[in-house]
Amino acid sequence: SYTVMKIKRSFLMQYTTFNNGHTMPQLGLGVFRVENNDTAKDAVKHAIVSGYRSIDAAFVYGNEEMVGQGIQEGILEAGIQREDLFITSKLWLDHYGKDNVQVGYETSLKLLGLDYLDLYLIHWPGTDQSLIIETWEGMEALYNDGKVKNIGVSNFDIEHLETLKAHTSIKPVINQVEFHPYLIQQSLRDYLASESIQMESWSPLMNAEILTDETIVAIADEIGKSPAQVVIRWNIEHGVVTIPKSVTPHRIEENINIFDFSLTQAQIARIDALNQDRRIGPNPLEFNG
Ligand code: NDP
Repeated sequence: SYTVMKIKRSFLMQYTTFNNGHTMPQLGLGVFRVENNDTAKDAVKHAIVSGYRSIDAAFVYGNEEMVGQGIQEGILEAGIQREDLFITSKLWLDHYGKDNVQVGYETSLKLLGLDYLDLYLIHWPGTDQSLIIETWEGMEALYNDGKVKNIGVSNFDIEHLETLKAHTSIKPVINQVEFHPYLIQQSLRDYLASESIQMESWSPLMNAEILTDETIVAIADEIGKSPAQVVIRWNIEHGVVTIPKSVTPHRIEENINIFDFSLTQAQIARIDALNQDRRIGPNPLEFNG
């Protein structure tokens, strides 16, 4: 279920409700490939001041320190509280295994300068199924101890999720995977819907490649929006949580300005038809760090 809320003056934000009853903004800022300097700090700060309430970080991005400073400054400048934000980070493969999870978590908290995360994800399934189970048990311990608000996974295929279902007790709230008009992930999306696991898209703009697609540009012209707004809105229409990355102030603003229009069923179908099952990132069945 989805709720659109006015979060401050003119800012609109839609929230999704997880299988545990908690909520998450349906749009956030991604910070992959952003340097650990003022670029990261300023992008995060500008996003928060522009109405973003969700930031997608990860230990392996190497910029949690300056992302954290952007969060602190954004809170002050926007006049909001930490609780108004939804901060995600991800456990990297060198901290897999039941007892290592807490070390990975505390490391990210310290770098970010936070005392809890809203969402912690296993970044990749890896190729060792028993290690996935042990690692998820470590995530469950964090959650059961009240250290983290929500736990989820990233880059999990159906078989990885079936492994967790068979051997562990807490269901992930979310699965963050590559998703854009050339990789529409129909079977995984259907599976996640049937399991009440929220889908979240990474590289929603296909790292900017999709923005010159003819169909995307044509729809953008038809409705008087930018190609990025069309693609981000298409994520929203599919009920997918999305985290486009930008360090450019006017693009950060453009990318959140998508809650006051919609796409027609025909436009959605035209975008869906662009699918080529084409990845720009690694294959989750093979990637091991
Ligand atoms: P995106 O698909 O979000 O594309 C980002 C690129 O698009 C940047 O070059 C950016 O440029 C450009 N861009 C952004 N907005 C616009 C716009 N309105 N008009 C024109 N160009 C635009 O790529 P990412 O790979 O960064 O994916 C997004 C996020 O997903 C990551 O930052 C990360 O948080 C997450 N992710 C997670 C992964 C995982 O394994 N879980 C893997 C990969 C990503 P500029 O910044 O210069 O403005």
